[in-house]
Amino acid sequence: MVENMSNNVIFITGHKNPDTDSICSAIGYAALKGEGYVAGRAGDVNPETQFVLDHFGLKAPELLQNVAGSEIILVDHNEAGQAVDGLADARIVEILDHHKIGGLQTSEPILFCNIPVGCTATIVTMFYQQSGKKPEPAVAGALCSAILSDTLAFRSPTCTEMDKAAARELAAIAGMEDVEAYAKEMFVAGSNLGSKTEKEILYLDFKKFTSGNTTFGVGQVTSMSGGELQQLKPRMQAYMQESMAEHGVDMLFLMLTDIMDESTDLIYCGPGADQAVKAAFTSDAADRTYLKGVMSRKKQIVPQLTEALK
Ligand code: MN
Ligand code: MN
Repeated sequence: MVENMSNNVIFITGHKNPDTDSICSAIGYAALKGEGYVAGRAGDVNPETQFVLDHFGLKAPELLQNVAGSEIILVDHNEAGQAVDGLADARIVEILDHHKIGGLQTSEPILFCNIPVGCTATIVTMFYQQSGKKPEPAVAGALCSAILSDTLAFRSPTCTEMDKAAARELAAIAGMEDVEAYAKEMFVAGSNLGSKTEKEILYLDFKKFTSGNTTFGVGQVTSMSGGELQQLKPRMQAYMQESMAEHGVDMLFLMLTDIMDESTDLIYCGPGADQAVKAAFTSDAADRTYLKGVMSRKKQIVPQLTEALK
């Protein structure tokens, strides 16, 4: 835990409720930048990411409580609402991201590299290539894992040729022989929801967004097992209904994404959420919230909801 920030280091961190990309891109970029740069994280390591760290023998980045007064590089996000506490009083020196531009301001020019690829780790890999350096095998494995995670092993519509090429190169460096089999193992570890509470499940991968006067939260659970998701559905629906007031949002959405079926079952609550979903998605399925082919929050859920809520 880091509470008193040193002035001598620049922290590199992903978003709150960090996913594998936020953790591994921070690790990979800190390793590339070298001395004076420290990988941080803005929350607990999720089970999928823990699997990756264990697999490659890497330590989790330092937990950052508050970055006020520090110099900081953001990876995998560029919205204040998703960032570590104290960001408003920190100096952002770089941003590497692959999301929509979310309204952050800086007082001076910075390196702001936002490329619409499937994963921030792909951009980090591009920076390695530019510098003529190669990541250590463990770091390459972590970056490759981030690409597999964000692109759902190349199945997500966000996945580009750049992501695939970067993953191939990283897998070779890391000595990963069967990338698809590794990805399955990683996803199973990640969706091992075991003894987790409903609240923990909702916040495993959760982000807040704003459209007009409406604040909404969108969580995502991805699983290799459709059966597991269908068991989870009524539990999460009930929990979201009864805990609605606790989350500080007007509407709450949860994507239950089935990797093998390449689909998402979208559950939600809050006044106006039903209307927003009706306006945002046209599904032919009898169950209107079953969205075939939908796997990406940033590309297939958030823009549509944002537009519907305007
Ligand atoms: Mn992320
Ligand atoms: Mn990402």
